[in-house]
This record gives sequence, structure tokens and C-alpha cells, in this order.
Amino acid sequence: MERREFIKATAIGSGLVFCPRLVFSQGVPLPKTQSQLDETYHKARYYEKLADGVVECHLCPRRCRVSDHERGYCGVRENVGGEYYTLVHSRVCSANIDPIEKKPFFHFLPGTSAFSIATAGCNINCKFCQNWSISQFRPEDVNHFSLTPEECAQYAFKSGSVSIAYTYSEPTVFYEYMYDCAIAASKIGVRKSISRLLLKNIITKYVGVN
Ligand code: SF4
Repeated sequence: MERREFIKATAIGSGLVFCPRLVFSQGVPLPKTQSQLDETYHKARYYEKLADGVVECHLCPRRCRVSDHERGYCGVRENVGGEYYTLVHSRVCSANIDPIEKKPFFHFLPGTSAFSIATAGCNINCKFCQNWSISQFRPEDVNHFSLTPEECAQYAFKSGSVSIAYTYSEPTVFYEYMYDCAIAASKIGVRKSISRLLLKNIITKYVGVN
């Protein structure tokens, strides 16, 4: 067994994940009933129905053609009865409050923090990936916690972050979730809280009060 394979196997066995701050659940359970399906899988957008129950995903240039009960290359989008579903909407496997410079941005909102989230799965397979223990696994193999778009926006706002970063894995594969988070964040003014942050910094600097 190669070193990389050994680390991968032991990481899964011990439930090792990148973010220990929030309470994790086991991977996405496979649905057995329609209600479980509705609860666990979210209807995907950006796909086309083809003949014989096959769907073609339009999220990335791979344009996977997926038969019933199969998944696309990224492992997070599944054909169930001719309908396409995303398995990672609202299922976050890593969340951190990072300096925006770590994204890395050096001239965009400098000195602020970004609420950073990821889900399992990726549409590419880079040999040098530093986050391979989430990017190269299916959702059921990676511990996760539930985070709705509204909760994500609230976390960002309350943490003092003025942006949300979709990072660690490739956000293209969780585009529907990313889109919904952006709408939720816009509604409560996550970006606008930059004025609150600037005011706080000014008060701290010139008045000396935190
Ligand atoms: S997002 Fe996933 S399922 Fe869709 S085309 Fe890309 S690799 Fe295939």
C-alpha cells in the first residue's frame, strides 16, 4: 500500500476531517423512501433529460451523461429515476473563519475574514491536492453537518466575516448550494457589514475601546 493510500484509509477509519469546531454527523444516508429522498437529496439544477432516463449534467465541462442510480464523475450528483439530485446541498464537511488573504486575496477587502465552507467531492483529480481527504471522497464517506443557506449567512454575519468563501474542494460541484448561500447572505447584508467592521476598527484605533 502506498503512503498516500495508507493515510487516506486511516483518515476515513478515524473520521478525520478538517474542521473540528462543529458537530459532525455520519455521511449522507442513502434514501430508502420518497420522504427520505426529498429530505436527503436536493433537486439539481443545470441538467438536461435525455432518452432512456439518462441525464446530462451541465455544471462543468465534463458534461457527464448519467444513467439511473449512477453518479457523475464528481460523485456528488446522482440520477434517481431520471431526475438529477445533488447530495451536498446544505451538507458542509469543513467550515472555518479564515483571513481573506488565505484565499488568497491581497487587494480585496484586506484585513477582513471570510467564512469559508466546503462540501465533499470534486470534478477534478489533482495529484497535489492538499484537501484530497474531502475532495476525492463521496459525501457518504465524509463526516458532515447540516448548514442551510440561511444558517450559513447567519454564521458569516455573526462571525464578523464580510464575505463567504466556497473553498477547499471545487465549488462548481455544489453550485446550487453556493448560489442559495449567496442569495441568503445578500438578503441579510453580510457584505454590508463591512461598514460595521470599519466603524469598530476606527473606534478601537482612535478611542481605544474594543
Ligand atoms: S459537476 Fe460533476 S456530474 Fe456535473 S459534469 Fe461536472 S463532474 Fe460531471
